[in-house]
Amino acid sequence: MDFSLLLDGLNDKQREAVAAPLGNYLVLAGAGSGKTRVLTHRIAWLIGVENIPESSILAVTFTNKAAAEMRHRIEHTLSQSSDHRLFGMWVGTFHSIANRLLRMHYLDANLPQDFQIMDSEDQQRLIKRLLKLHNIDEKHFPPKQVAWFINAKKDQGLRAKDIEPNDDANTKKLVQIYQIYQDACDRAGLLDFAELLIRTYELFKQNKLILQRYQQRFRQILIDEFQDTNNIQYDLIHLLAGNSSNVMIVGDDDQSIYGWRGAQVENIQRFLDDYTNAQTIRLEQNYRSTGNILNAANGLIANNENRLGKNLWTDSGEGEPVDIYCAFNELDEARFVASQIKQWKEDEGELNQCAVLYRSNSQSRVIEEALIQASIPYRIYGGMRFFERQEIKDALAYLRLIANRQDDAAFERVVNTPPRSIGDRTLDILRQLTRTRQITLWQAIQVAVQEEQLSGRAASALLRFVDLINALEQETEQMPLFEQTDFVIRKSGLYEMYKQEKGEKGEVRIENLEELVTAARQFNKPDEAEEMSDLTAFLTHASLESGETQASPHQDYVELMTLHSAKGLEFPRVFIVGVEEGIFPSGMSFDEGRLQEERRLAYVGITRAKKKLTISYAENRRLYGKEERHLPSRFIAELPEEHIREVRLRGNINRPAHFFAKNSPKPTASILEDSPWKMGQKVRHEKFGQGTIINVEGSGDQTRLQVAFVQQGIKWLIAKMANLEKL
Ligand code: ATP
Ligand code: MG
Repeated sequence: MDFSLLLDGLNDKQREAVAAPLGNYLVLAGAGSGKTRVLTHRIAWLIGVENIPESSILAVTFTNKAAAEMRHRIEHTLSQSSDHRLFGMWVGTFHSIANRLLRMHYLDANLPQDFQIMDSEDQQRLIKRLLKLHNIDEKHFPPKQVAWFINAKKDQGLRAKDIEPNDDANTKKLVQIYQIYQDACDRAGLLDFAELLIRTYELFKQNKLILQRYQQRFRQILIDEFQDTNNIQYDLIHLLAGNSSNVMIVGDDDQSIYGWRGAQVENIQRFLDDYTNAQTIRLEQNYRSTGNILNAANGLIANNENRLGKNLWTDSGEGEPVDIYCAFNELDEARFVASQIKQWKEDEGELNQCAVLYRSNSQSRVIEEALIQASIPYRIYGGMRFFERQEIKDALAYLRLIANRQDDAAFERVVNTPPRSIGDRTLDILRQLTRTRQITLWQAIQVAVQEEQLSGRAASALLRFVDLINALEQETEQMPLFEQTDFVIRKSGLYEMYKQEKGEKGEVRIENLEELVTAARQFNKPDEAEEMSDLTAFLTHASLESGETQASPHQDYVELMTLHSAKGLEFPRVFIVGVEEGIFPSGMSFDEGRLQEERRLAYVGITRAKKKLTISYAENRRLYGKEERHLPSRFIAELPEEHIREVRLRGNINRPAHFFAKNSPKPTASILEDSPWKMGQKVRHEKFGQGTIINVEGSGDQTRLQVAFVQQGIKWLIAKMANLEKL
């Protein structure tokens, strides 16, 4: 193999990491310095130059999409010298790797072969049901918080029996619920995400032979985004690595953004302590962003304490300053973003070079509406995942029951969907049986019928359901997966039920169900799922795949996503919206630790941008039905003024002058200039008196204005007819 191919396109430091002798390494470097690129080349190097068998490589990425991309890149690099497909190498997220191990060793892990994975919504529903069953007040123990508690304990490797509640009644109760929940999951063969990891850890702990087998196999372990690993993930790797594996971790302490979910940035230090011979390699050149963007990010993150310290530079030129846009309200902000995207498309080309980032999912709606109005296609990345939609989960629940009758979560979901006169009273009898006899709901039907606990009508309704599921299995046994899916959707009555649903919503649901059949048709069983049935492999895919790539790859659309899910990605044109105190940093970030994590999140956001970044905030924002006045985020004030430029289009509102320096460059007013009406403009109407424009729609003669009048309240007016006087 030609060495130079593998080292092409790398700087000296990167080459040092890629071509380093076998051993343990920490590649510590800031955003955009090529960490992921180094990891990818390192793997190709191990295979191509060190002649390491592919099967001894284990690579961990943060998302499934990143895993697919990494595999693809490695194949591409290696195939420059020979045709190469990687079969034996494992690349995936911690969860997908754990899933794979558990599937192979389900007996040792004490799991049914067809165990199913629950997402967080399923998990909360199950908890809710159990709380009710055990007469525990949901108000005192909200399912979401209970799930949080359980997941956090699992992430620390703790089972209910391992927790010392210290006489605290509240914790005692939570521990008790944890146990009840776990028993129910075990009976039904259900695993939540955290369970995947702790189960795998326990599998290794309890089966020395299995552990040894994988220790001998995975001699090369490589992990991206190491700063966001949690305790159990660290322990898993530590176990697997044993005493002799070679571990390369790459990470950036400044991008640790999952502390709230139990990630431990301290794991970087722990790695250095545990692997005493580990060498640290630092990369300092940033290849992603222009000078202004990078230096804005550097200036911001300098406000954090206890950093490992890095010095990032770029030679890609200054570029444009970071634009800061102060919007009158959230509608103004959204419209501004839409118009800027339009501009980008006209000047530079692709929509998919643009990304809009926000702190929380609920902020997307306003942006979406503005994009729709401007006819700009968009996609929500990692938002409401396809596989999480109601009708899809209904269909999947039928499939899950076909695969595993003991799946209580699936049972609960569809036993009366579509309605078959199986009421809550009937179900309560079954639920009680699950509790007193330690059986599943499916098994409870038989017991209830035999012991005549049910009315004749209820019993026959339930038995019809049992027949339906059995028939669905038998009749679809020989079908390919997509036909099976289609058959189940129709025969279960779901199709008919959603068909009846009125209006656009029903149509969309039907479309989605049809899309599910397409997804089943397109589904390629991955190599590692060889032993699973097509159905189980597909269901696993549905629960692990965070829907990162659902839209057609050929379409050109803007990406909308939370700052968290933007990690590791890059876009030429980035917008960060809603950068206001109380939103970002979020209102929940009171203490210094939390605040520093928010700042790192801002650092992640800023460093996604390659060419042009715009940060915006709104002075007024309607949130959760309430209009609030907001201050610009402190993070804006922390950006070095020589790298930013204030964009303002309205002149008559008191600007928050305290945030902007006197000598900052003159605002540029370019877009939205075509309309003489601006949001925030004070006006007078002959009849309604004085008011403020709060919304502008349409253009030219069609322009409609929404004005908040001091005396008369809010009104929509046709600009041409209203005869407004600007004040
Ligand atoms: P993050 O911290 O955001 O995950 P990273 O450190 O993993 O970033 P990469 O995504 O690997 O950085 O690289 C950032 C960008 O710089 C990519 O577009 C990558 O292709 C490019 N790049 C990395 N190294 C080089 C290089 N030596 N020459 C040219 N481009 C490079
Ligand atoms: Mg990366």
